[in-house]
Amino acid sequence: MNFYILTLFPDMVVAVMAESIMARARESKLVNIYPMNIRDFSADKHKKVDDYPYGGGAGMVMFCQPIFDAYQEALRRIGHEAPLVYLTPQGHTFTQQMAHDFLKYDALVLLCGHYEGVDERVIEEIVDFQISIGDYVLTGGELPAMVLVDAIARLVPGVLHNEASAGAESFENGLLEYPQYTRPRVWHGREVPEILLSGHHAKVDEWRLSQSKARTERIRPDLL
Ligand code: SAM
Repeated sequence: MNFYILTLFPDMVVAVMAESIMARARESKLVNIYPMNIRDFSADKHKKVDDYPYGGGAGMVMFCQPIFDAYQEALRRIGHEAPLVYLTPQGHTFTQQMAHDFLKYDALVLLCGHYEGVDERVIEEIVDFQISIGDYVLTGGELPAMVLVDAIARLVPGVLHNEASAGAESFENGLLEYPQYTRPRVWHGREVPEILLSGHHAKVDEWRLSQSKARTERIRPDLL
């Protein structure tokens, strides 16, 4: 899976993707991440990428030309059509199901906005999906882009060494995951539930399912 990240701050992307499972996934070439600096595509002699908003108001707006040209270059490097995803608080809220749906593409181009966002006309012209990571406003689209990359990349076969671990997780079956425990058996007087020590797999599964249902009902009844 190949991710092209159009950003004004490529170092942010590199830093997040240089650790842990994502770093391993990149080394094994199952996931490739290509940050592209939007500023490099500015036709302005001072490499400007933003300007004052028409109609007045606070802040700056990223203008169309460098974003359009950066996307064209990403497509040229990919060698075929690939959707452009704009990270924006105004988009549809990202879900686990969307992460699965994006797996059908072998390449995605992610556009990270900054300042007051981007000129509406470039959104109309080239953006295929507008996605938010939640109802709050961040300073830039880099962290949201990394959230998408992480959530999608870990579903790529081979990225998680234990394939089963993605399948049993929260949201995969419409429920939150059951509580997890590890050693020691007693910690601060709190014991691991007896059933988990029984070695009876069917009973353990049954207990976990009932725990999943109970906590989903309590914390996220909207999922049921
Ligand atoms: N003026 C915009 C508005 O009110 O909708 C917000 C712009 S925000 C300060 C700058 C950039 O951060 C956006 O263009 C977007 O790329 C990113 N961003 C901020 N919050 C986000 C969120 N919740 N989900 C996805 N992207 C977000």
